[in-house]
Amino acid sequence: QAQSDGRRLYRFYTPALNEQLLEQFQLEQALRHGLEHDELMLYYQPRVDIRSGEILSLEALVRWNHPEWGLVEPARFIPIAEATGLILDLGPVVLRAACKQIKAWQEAGVPIVPIAVNLSAKELYQDALATRIAEIMTAASVDPHQLEIEITESATMHSVAKAIEILTALRSLGLALSMDDFGTGHASLSYLNQLPMQTIKIDRSFLTKIGGHTEKGADQHATIVKAIIGLGLNLGLKIIAEGVETASQRDFLIEHGCDVGQGHLFSLPLPAEKIEPLLRSGSVPPTLH
Ligand code: C2E
Ligand code: MG
Ligand code: MG
Ligand code: MG
Repeated sequence: QAQSDGRRLYRFYTPALNEQLLEQFQLEQALRHGLEHDELMLYYQPRVDIRSGEILSLEALVRWNHPEWGLVEPARFIPIAEATGLILDLGPVVLRAACKQIKAWQEAGVPIVPIAVNLSAKELYQDALATRIAEIMTAASVDPHQLEIEITESATMHSVAKAIEILTALRSLGLALSMDDFGTGHASLSYLNQLPMQTIKIDRSFLTKIGGHTEKGADQHATIVKAIIGLGLNLGLKIIAEGVETASQRDFLIEHGCDVGQGHLFSLPLPAEKIEPLLRSGSVPPTLH
């Protein structure tokens, strides 16, 4: 009986699915090991005044420096960390690393700017998040105004009332909050007004088609970007454009009232030692475009 059940069940597991599960499991085990052995590190990407290149803040982007696989991108392991709950261990590691970097730069006399740290949905809704974050900041003696939290629009939508409560608690710690990947998460406009965010970040996907005049969908995307900028400005929010890659995208943003951006046009995400000289000079090198 059991055997025939087993056989019937087995039919649903294609080799490809087995392989995928196995790979996920191995990745999870490896990540757990990596977290315990200090294999995670932060890269930083400047957010700049897109006219002058002045560095206004940095976004911390986690990388996994695996001894055999080399540098693993977050797209490979953040979803797995989320699905398995490991993100609840990873989050504090990232926040502590950012705090440690702030202190290190401060002590070295590097002119620092605020560092934005990404929080995933699962982290956002965990119990006593604000207390946990406050404890980490206190232990590192980092001031809340030196940090910022990025939460995706879709994360805030899981449970809006709860999100408002949690974000309000983070805000009252003195942390700045920004809404990441805006435009992809179907946030109702009425909620946008209720969430205590200071900044919205226009999702990179809307910018990709802008500037190359012949590209299909460019007009539509330009309309969306203009609408987001207009909406944000009218609500008194700061706006950051993600994924600025070309001079024509930058010019489009300037023309429509968005003054802050991050993207490969200005700087790739870089390890701390490569960010340090940029912080000392105060701006990213002028682009040649
Ligand atoms: P995100 O927060 O939206 O970060 C922006 C992503 O866009 C980064 O990818 C960045 O490297 C990339 N990017 C920036 N400028 C450009 C550009 O001009 N062109 C292109 N093609 N890409 C650009 P990254 O570092 O691979 O991170 C991917 C995502 O992983 C992040 O998206 C964020 O959602 C998540 N993530 C990264 N670090 C953390 C973390 O510490 N905690 C959590 N929970 N999530 C993280
Ligand atoms: Mg982000
Ligand atoms: Mg983003
Ligand atoms: Mg994103």
